[in-house]
Amino acid sequence: MKDIKVMAEIKENLKSIRDQIEKTALDCGRNPQDITLIAVSKKKPVEAIVEAIQAGSIHFGENYIQEAMGKIDGIKNIAPTGLDSVCWHFIGHLQSNKSKFAVKYFDYIHTVDSLKLAKEINKQAKKIDKVQKILLQINIGMEDTKSGIIPEKTVELAEETAMLENLSIEGLMGMPPFSSDPEDVRGYFKNMVEIKKEIEHKNYAKVSMYHLSMGMSSDYEVAIQEGSTMVRVGTSIFGRR
Ligand SMILES: *Cc1c(COP(=O)(O)O)cnc(C)c1O
Repeated sequence: MKDIKVMAEIKENLKSIRDQIEKTALDCGRNPQDITLIAVSKKKPVEAIVEAIQAGSIHFGENYIQEAMGKIDGIKNIAPTGLDSVCWHFIGHLQSNKSKFAVKYFDYIHTVDSLKLAKEINKQAKKIDKVQKILLQINIGMEDTKSGIIPEKTVELAEETAMLENLSIEGLMGMPPFSSDPEDVRGYFKNMVEIKKEIEHKNYAKVSMYHLSMGMSSDYEVAIQEGSTMVRVGTSIFGRR
């Protein structure tokens, strides 16, 4: 895929999403710089990621370990300018036995939803002397089809995870049930904020609740209005998958 039209669209799409993020933030009294745009590049080729890097993107999200490793290594070989500053976010479901690779390749893991997984990530991080940044994923809509810890168990998971010395807990991630009307998901985002506050009040050592990773192509504006600090946008940047 060195489709010139698609490449030009990535650049334009990024510009319009950045503008929209800025406008949405300013309209609700937030600093646009407090919102990180994560370009979700799953199932998209290395060329598309390179294009986004050249258009100024720094943060990328990937869902599948195997695919991501190939692409991240591939990009290193191309070595475009600006690569040094690229930050990789793992946003897919993580099996414990793949933790080693997630730790090796990713700056952030957004999808920690059990103590077992947290312990395995901690163990792998320790081996390479890394403090791994993680977020706790909440199954905010309590859907059978989604991963994530159930809302009322999240505080407990934060407390247990806080004791693992090679993890740094940076916040919460969640994905509400799909709806064609973004207003339908506002309540779920509000619940995320409530859980975040509850954990903040506990003052666990090593637990920062700075980040709220919420909002995708269909609902990132609402997520920003409710306090998101990381929006994960795929389709609106790279097109349909
Ligand atoms: C695919 C994916 C996204 C991006 O979704 P779009 O609707 O394409 O913007 C965001 N978050 C997660 C966890 C995903 O799996």
